[in-house]
Amino acid sequence: MTETLEKEITQRIEQIYPELVQTRRKLHQEPELSFYEFQTTSFLVETLHGYGYEVHQPLETGCIAVLKGGKKSDRVIALRADIDALPIQEEGEHKSEFLSRRNGVAHCCGHDVHTSNLLGAAKILKEYKDDIEGTVVLVFQPAEEKLPGGGRLLSESGILQKLGVQEIYGLHTSPYHQPGEVAVKSGPLMARPDEFTITVFGKGGHAAAPHMAVDPVVLSGQLITLLQSVITRHINPTDPAVLTIGKIEGGSAHNVIPEKVEMKGTVRTFDREVAEKIRMQMEQTIKAVTEAAGGSYDFNWDEGYPAVVNDADTTEKMKRVARRLIGVKQVTEIEDPVMAGEDFAFYQEHFPGTFFFLGSGSEESGSVYSWHHPRYNADERAMKTGVLILVGLALDSSDDS
Ligand SMILES: [Zn+2]
Ligand SMILES: [Zn+2]
Repeated sequence: MTETLEKEITQRIEQIYPELVQTRRKLHQEPELSFYEFQTTSFLVETLHGYGYEVHQPLETGCIAVLKGGKKSDRVIALRADIDALPIQEEGEHKSEFLSRRNGVAHCCGHDVHTSNLLGAAKILKEYKDDIEGTVVLVFQPAEEKLPGGGRLLSESGILQKLGVQEIYGLHTSPYHQPGEVAVKSGPLMARPDEFTITVFGKGGHAAAPHMAVDPVVLSGQLITLLQSVITRHINPTDPAVLTIGKIEGGSAHNVIPEKVEMKGTVRTFDREVAEKIRMQMEQTIKAVTEAAGGSYDFNWDEGYPAVVNDADTTEKMKRVARRLIGVKQVTEIEDPVMAGEDFAFYQEHFPGTFFFLGSGSEESGSVYSWHHPRYNADERAMKTGVLILVGLALDSSDDS
């Protein structure tokens, strides 16, 4: 990518910025849950057709757009954005102009920004088609937020293999970095998020006669505390691991011992073996506690996404492209991996790839809340950097290095 081209593209992004914002807000107002992104998909397919893309729909929702560059080459690069929203009731005055119009559904993970970003890149890449070496594959992926994960379904569908994808890149907005910045690291970046449901069965009865009942509330209380020891007493302290119970439900009145209590939670690790060890130890603990009291249990474990592990070569390329386009200081090296999960990991099981964070945090846009918070917001200026880097990655050819 020559300097003149870099300048031209930066200017072009400034020109289309109002459009990026408009698209982001449109998506934000009409969020759709994982696997139900029908309206979003129609909008994407229509827009991409309008740009002149060849569009494939291997799954019910989401789509894949293909652009053959003007310079002949076998090179095939994929860029991925996730398009789904979360089951959250949105809040936040910074977003008052474009709050979700759907009750209990909201883009509180920034996927509206990711989608608008990639659509912006699609528009610009089409305009600079003659400068592209090989083929660019744009992956608008559904259902990042829900198991088994759209990333898994797409990477196992075989379409990317058929298109000959050789490398893949994806990004996520980050409230912990400023707009204009990106952050990345080679190796493990994001954790493996497994999910579990524990049902503790007791024997219901009168609250005043606990000796006649088996109290699943008390048993659950013991388990909540004991299960933390699975991490601290059974797992090697040098292996990162987190266990969180995020939901607990049981009982109906202040004077009734209920029949059962249900708890849902997640375990985050970087290694399947560590996760497996935690699962087994959890089950032993649950079995021992419930059976000792005369109760019983049900323990359900849903294997989550693998860990996101960035390939050394694609990460080096991403850093080189980003440093040149946005400046060395704007490219942060992440030291510690984060325990959140991402189904981008599935692509990385098939293709070398890099996932990076796009700074989107600022006081003025109220973008100070963590992902999945009802007030989560992303500073829209982040999209200028996002589009630039995605376009840069697609236009970068090995001769430039
Ligand atoms: Zn999320
Ligand atoms: Zn997300």
